[in-house]
Amino acid sequence: MIIAVDGPTASGKGTIAKAIAAHFGLPHLDTGLLYRAVGKQVWLNDGDPDDPQNALSACDFPDSLLENPDLRSEETGGLASRVSVHPGVRQALFERQRAFAQQPGGAVLDGRDIGTVIAPEADVKLFITASVEERARRRWMEMQDRELEITLVEIERDIVARDARDINRKDAPLRAAPDALVLDTTSFDKDQAVEAAIEAVKTALKS
Ligand code: C5P
Repeated sequence: MIIAVDGPTASGKGTIAKAIAAHFGLPHLDTGLLYRAVGKQVWLNDGDPDDPQNALSACDFPDSLLENPDLRSEETGGLASRVSVHPGVRQALFERQRAFAQQPGGAVLDGRDIGTVIAPEADVKLFITASVEERARRRWMEMQDRELEITLVEIERDIVARDARDINRKDAPLRAAPDALVLDTTSFDKDQAVEAAIEAVKTALKS
């Protein structure tokens, strides 16, 4: 059983995907982390994330980089969104994601193009969304926990820029698959969003 969870940045898709995986006893892959590792590796190489060749070379990142807590930073998220526009990068990361999706027993993957490109045959496709203001507020709350100094306005600006890059890129743009179930979590807290998503998966599996 493959469950695809797509959506824009800070929509809650990661939390939801993890909870679905735990509920159904499936392995989970946060595919954004792979793009974040490429973005970080370009930076470590002193490369230019907007240069397709520099970005492609960074796809050779060591697996240990995936454990680096720095990958979760806003800065690395911005680098990830820049390297992810290059078709060569998406191609280089394709097999790894595809193999994870196809493992015996199934898997849950979250990202931007799981239901459209990586696993179009997924048994259940969720597209998680929320308003820009609410996503910025959630990100900002997270930052406060980590005592990072960044304003709500800066975060909102960053989210709008990343959405635009993800939606407008030619290769695998962010969009809900036609057969995806769209879940708007703007008015939900974390528990309500998780509960609604698990219910949606159960309903989809019954039909
Ligand atoms: O989801 P997360 O914020 O960690 O993703 C970081 C960036 O990686 C996104 O802004 C997006 O540009 C890119 N990404 C992607 N395809 C995916 C997952 C992430 O293009 N499947």
